[in-house]
Amino acid sequence: MKEISILGSTGSIGQNTLEVIAAHPDKFNVRALAAGTNVSLLKEQIERFRPEFVALATEEAADKLRERLAGTETAVLSGIDGLIAVATHSDVKMVVSAIVGAAGLVPTMAAIEAGKDIALANKETLVTAGPLVMGAVERAGVQLFPVDSEHSAIFQSLVGHRHGDVRRLILTASGGPFRATSLEALKQVTAVQALAHPNWSMGKKISVDSATMMNKGLEVIEASFLFDLPGKQISVHVHPESIVHSMVEYIDGAVIAQMGLPDMKTPIAYALSYPERVELNQPEMDLCSIGMLNFEEPDHLRFPCLKLAYQALEEGGDAPAVLNAANEVAVQFFLSGQLAFLQIPEVVSRVLEMHDPSGLTTVSEVLRKDRWARERSLEVIRQLEGACA
Ligand code: NAD
Ligand code: MG
Repeated sequence: MKEISILGSTGSIGQNTLEVIAAHPDKFNVRALAAGTNVSLLKEQIERFRPEFVALATEEAADKLRERLAGTETAVLSGIDGLIAVATHSDVKMVVSAIVGAAGLVPTMAAIEAGKDIALANKETLVTAGPLVMGAVERAGVQLFPVDSEHSAIFQSLVGHRHGDVRRLILTASGGPFRATSLEALKQVTAVQALAHPNWSMGKKISVDSATMMNKGLEVIEASFLFDLPGKQISVHVHPESIVHSMVEYIDGAVIAQMGLPDMKTPIAYALSYPERVELNQPEMDLCSIGMLNFEEPDHLRFPCLKLAYQALEEGGDAPAVLNAANEVAVQFFLSGQLAFLQIPEVVSRVLEMHDPSGLTTVSEVLRKDRWARERSLEVIRQLEGACA
């Protein structure tokens, strides 16, 4: 029996993880859950999975949940202490890190330092502090399994091969809802349109990141740290069918790809059960009815975020953390209708230009840089508003 904690249990990845766990009660057991402020859904999850304790982001939300839980055994914690308690539960073997954004960094590091294996969905953890996280993983002797479908595909395509034999990684990208939208039309697109992803149903932030292709940029950085390869050995192919989840090209010209219908339960289950596979009752993949698999170059003119991410990776140090924070702020403003779609890369690029490059030595330094970049992003957004008014 694998004892598990989930950070972000009410999100898209969190709910899919609980479905995988529910399908295999003989293999997995939930001990603790953490969520933001979704009291009703967390209450349902408590009734179904009976964790020992849960944590919500605010004391106000925790109070509401305590009222509604009267008579059950589950304790309700709150804030960062609650999150860390969930991440470090003494009986837990694996922590599923599925909070969205840089908020995932501190609890994920706490889990690693407490000796937990990690199933990592929260790519921002690696983007903001890749070298620190990978160093901590090595020191603690724990395992880090990617949940992101592309990284799971690469992880699966690397099994049985030598690192030195890899020529490059090829990440696939669906191209998102605006793959075929003209630059002119992109000026006007709304949050509702950006959230309508053609192949995947995901949280709002990653859906917007997929629409701008910042998601692929973050994934290039994630892959670089996870698989210890520089940006120049990581390519991106747009692949609208989302069947080939990513590929590894070897020095002898062989290319190994991992394919499957797009469903996050597959990479989640692999991270939970590695090296075994578990039955997921997925439909058979019928390539004959899919008929064609298409691949194209990303368009850097319409989707400048991808290049910005490559640049931040190349620059190294705190640049990826700055890129990530500026993007989080810009996406929030876009979602609330206060920033245009094409202004997202503009905010990110201006904040990157403003920052003084420095190395990353501690998590507090990352958090300081993250706060700095958020403040600068707000200034840039105010300037853009002023220019539009
Ligand atoms: P989501 O918005 O659906 O869920 C986020 C979860 O985090 C929710 O449970 C929310 O309550 C919780 N949360 C947010 N802020 C919190 C805080 N401060 N404290 C505690 N809990 C907090 O997002 P998602 O789509 O599930 O994505 C989660 C992560 O997984 C992201 O980093 C995303 O990039 C990554 N990811 C998602 C997918 C996908 O298919 N959804 C695929 C690959 C990677
Ligand atoms: Mg992905």
